[in-house]
Amino acid sequence: THVLKIEGLHVSVGDKPILRGVDLTINHGETHALMGPNGSGKSTLGLAIMGHPGYTVTGGSISLDGEDVLAMAPDERARAGIFMAFQRPMAIPGVKMADFLRHATTNVRRPDRKEGEELIPMREFRKELKEKMAHLRMDTEFARRYVNDGFSGGEMKRAEILQLAMLQPKFAVLDETDSGLDADAVRLASESIADIGREKMGLLIITHHDKLLVHNPPEFTHVMLGGRLVETGGKELAAELHESGYDRIRSAYPDAE
Ligand code: ADP
Ligand code: MG
Ligand code: MG
Repeated sequence: THVLKIEGLHVSVGDKPILRGVDLTINHGETHALMGPNGSGKSTLGLAIMGHPGYTVTGGSISLDGEDVLAMAPDERARAGIFMAFQRPMAIPGVKMADFLRHATTNVRRPDRKEGEELIPMREFRKELKEKMAHLRMDTEFARRYVNDGFSGGEMKRAEILQLAMLQPKFAVLDETDSGLDADAVRLASESIADIGREKMGLLIITHHDKLLVHNPPEFTHVMLGGRLVETGGKELAAELHESGYDRIRSAYPDAE
């Protein structure tokens, strides 16, 4: 079974320390919710896992099945099976979703493929894409649109779900937009994640929407405060924080921020 292991992780943006010693182990098949007030460092953790160049690891380690993730370039991390859905995904005008997905899927399934080598055969890819989209009740027309170009919040979410379904990563970090998703879009995303089979991945869900967790009850909930995970619990911790906010956490850890 696969395991993503983060130990004593310190991350800075410029010379500002953001993460100050994060330990987190995600086993394949587990869903972890990551919560915490705005600015506590949740997105920073996701971006550091993906190797975003603006986020400098100054200490600690990240490994995937014992392999040093920090030694991998961002695209190698993706090929190794780590996926991240960004809070504000980049638009790629001129590149259709289907073409983007065919490249990305090939890279993940054939991690040794060199630039310019064959992609998965079109016929095979089309068939799979069609099946996955039907399963997710998505209109195939959606795959002909340019990646994230003028997408609504709900459409970005659907694009992300479709990527998850096609790429079948070992581990996925889902960083939720703080706004722009209506209740229906969140429910649909939530059901879709469950549909894809969350048990086939390790999931780290950064969310402010308790609805996203309804169909995906987390085995573990972590609370980040001031760049550290100050508390870990089960799904009842997520429910408590959604209900009552972070006052209890802040007063329990007055020196964390
Ligand atoms: P969260 O996702 O929990 O809201 P972030 O990880 O986005 O928190 O941010 C944590 C802290 O790091 C904040 O103080 C934020 O201002 C700072 N930070 C994150 N990314 C950048 C950046 N690219 N440039 C400057 N500061 C950043
Ligand atoms: Mg934020
Ligand atoms: Mg964030």
